[in-house]
Amino acid sequence: MIEQIATHQEFLVAPEWLKAQATLQDLAGAHARSLADPDGFWGEWAQRLAWFTPWEKVLEWNYPDHRWFVGGRTNITLNALDRHADGANRNKLALIWIGEDGSERKLTYYELRQTVSRLASGLRSLGVTCGDRVVLYLPLTVEGVASMLACARLGAIHSVVYAGMGVGALRDRIVDAGAHVVIAGDVGFRRGKVVDLRSIVEQAIEGLPLRHVLWLQRGPQRPLRPHDVDFATLLAQSKPDVDPVPVDAEHPLYILYTSGSTGKPKGVVHVHGGYMVGTSYHLRHTYDVKDNDVFWATSDIGWVVGHSYIVYAPLVEGITSVLREGAPDWPDPGIFWKCVEQYGVNVLFTAPTAVRMFMKYGARFVEPYDLRTLRLVAVAGEPLNPEAMRWAHKHLTGEGQHGFIADNWWQTELGGPTIATPIVAAARPGAAGLPLPGVEAAVVDENGAAVPRGKGGLLVLKRPFPHMMRTIWGSHSRYEQYWNEIPHCYAAGDVASWDEQGYISVLGRSDDVLNVAGHRIGTADVESALITHPSVAESAVIGVPDPLKGEAIKAFVVLRIGVEASDAQRSSIVEHVRHELGPIATPSQVTFTEKLPKTRSGKIVRRLLKAQELGQNPGDLSTLEE
Ligand code: AMP
Repeated sequence: MIEQIATHQEFLVAPEWLKAQATLQDLAGAHARSLADPDGFWGEWAQRLAWFTPWEKVLEWNYPDHRWFVGGRTNITLNALDRHADGANRNKLALIWIGEDGSERKLTYYELRQTVSRLASGLRSLGVTCGDRVVLYLPLTVEGVASMLACARLGAIHSVVYAGMGVGALRDRIVDAGAHVVIAGDVGFRRGKVVDLRSIVEQAIEGLPLRHVLWLQRGPQRPLRPHDVDFATLLAQSKPDVDPVPVDAEHPLYILYTSGSTGKPKGVVHVHGGYMVGTSYHLRHTYDVKDNDVFWATSDIGWVVGHSYIVYAPLVEGITSVLREGAPDWPDPGIFWKCVEQYGVNVLFTAPTAVRMFMKYGARFVEPYDLRTLRLVAVAGEPLNPEAMRWAHKHLTGEGQHGFIADNWWQTELGGPTIATPIVAAARPGAAGLPLPGVEAAVVDENGAAVPRGKGGLLVLKRPFPHMMRTIWGSHSRYEQYWNEIPHCYAAGDVASWDEQGYISVLGRSDDVLNVAGHRIGTADVESALITHPSVAESAVIGVPDPLKGEAIKAFVVLRIGVEASDAQRSSIVEHVRHELGPIATPSQVTFTEKLPKTRSGKIVRRLLKAQELGQNPGDLSTLEE
C-alpha cells in the first residue's frame, strides 16, 4: 500500500493483518520506556535467557565505557544451543545450509550442539582455552558456524575474516588479534567455480608463530604439514563432552575487523552477555521473527550481519536459520526466490545492492515463484534508494499485500539494528527509519548542537545499548575516539538528516570510508595496498557512484620515476590490490596522474578529486598547496 500523507511524502505501510500480529506494537511506548528505565527494559528481556550466575546490576555507564549485566555469568552457547538441545526445540531445525549446486544440509538443535561440543573438545586438545584468539577464514558453511560456536563455548574469542579477503588483509588480522590457531577452508565455491583459499592462507601465515592450522578440506586432498590438522579427522576423534564454559557477561565473544579512516583495520569487540540480549531483542521486535519462522539472512559469517543474524540471534531464539553459500545470481538470477519458495522463508534480510541487482535482471526471474510466505524483507548495509524499495515492494511482497519492506541502519560497532522501520511504522522511501528502543539518536553539527529538521548533519548516539561494542582490540583509545569527536556522543561517522516526523535518512560516510556493495572499505586500506606495488609512488582513492554497487573504487596513482604508464601497468596494479585485499576492495578504475592535490601540511585532499570527478564545487581550497 502506498499512502500520501499531509506533507505529500510517500510512505509504504504494512497490511493491517501484518501490523496486528507484529510483536512490537507500541514503538513509541517501548522507545520511551527503554530510555526512561533502561535497567527495567533490558533486564526484563535478559531474564528470558539462561545465566550461570544472575547479574547484580544491568548497566554501569562510566562515559565512554559501558558494562551490562554486571556480575552475571553466562555463555552465549548455553543460550544458542543447550537451552534448545535440552528442551522443547531439541529436534527442531537450527540450520539449513544450501550449496550453490543445490545440495543441502540440515541440522537440528541437538545435532548442532553435539557437533559444536565435539569441535570444542577438539580445539581444546589443540590447546585452545578461554580468552585465546582463533582466526577463522572459512566459507559460509555449517563448519564455519560450528567453529564460531565452538570457540564461544570455550570462552575463546573468534575473529572471522571474510573468506574473500586477500593475503595482506588476512595476515594483518591474524597478527593484530594475536591468534595462534587458524581455522581455514581449502576451497570455496562461487559461480560454479572452485575458489582456491589454501594458497591465500599459506601466503598470509608465512613466518607467523602459529601453533596449528585446522583445515576444512572440501577440495583435492593435499599433504598436511606438521602444524596442520584435518577438520573432519579432529571432529571424528573428539567426544561431544564440552559444556559451555561460564564466562563473565562482559567476556569478549568475538573480534570483527572493520575499516576506519586510518590504514590499520579496527578490531571491534563484542561480548557474550549484552550482545545476546540486544541482538535477540531485535530479532523478535525489529525483524518480527516468530517461533516457527524460517529466517534467512543472506549475508556471510565474515560480516557483522552474519554474526548477529545468521548465527547468534536466531540460535539464541531457537529459530531455523538459512545460510546459502555462493553468488546470489548463480546458477540463475531466480535462485533466491526459488529458495524462498522451497524452504518457506518468512523473513529475509538482504542488502540494497542485491535488490538493485534483482531489479536489473527484472521481475521475470521472480514471477515463477510463490513468495507468499515472505512477511518481511529487511535490508541494511547502505542507503536503499526509493526506486529499489518500490521495486521490492511491488515484486517481492505482492504490492505489499503479503509483506513489508523495511530499511535498517547499523554498523559493525553497533551489533544490531539501530535506526529502522519496524512493521508498525510506515516506511519512508529514502529514510532508514526511526530510532529503535534503546537508541537515543540525533543529527548534530560538529559541536554537538542539533541541526534543524530537514538539514544534514552528523549522526550520533547519545547513550550505549547492550549489544554495542566495548572496545577496539588492543587500542582502547581508538574506541574512545568514537565518543570524543563530539562531546558526550558516539559519532557514527555517517552524514544524515532527520525530518519533522523523526525519520532519519543516512546519506553516506563523513570520513574517508567507502561503501562498496554494502561493504565498508577504508580509502586508507586501498591506498596502503597500492603503495606496496613496486611501480606506485603515491596514490589517492575515492568512491564514485555506481548504479549496482552504490559506490565503486577509483584510484589516482602517481607512478615512480621511470615507470611507463600503460594498460599492463594498470592491470598489474589492480591485480596487486586484489591479491592483498581481495576482490571486494579491487579498484574498478585506475587513473595515472603526475601529482595529487595536497594541503600545505601534505594531506591528500580526496574531496577535491571527488568534486572534480563528479563535476561539483570543491568548496574551500585555501589550505591547498597547489
Ligand atoms: P558495516 O560496519 O560494514 O556494517 O558498515 C556500516 C556503514 O554502512 C554505516 O556506517 C553506513 O555508512 C552504512 N549503512 C549501513 N546500513 C545503512 C542503511 N540502512 N542506510 C544507509 N547506510 C547504511
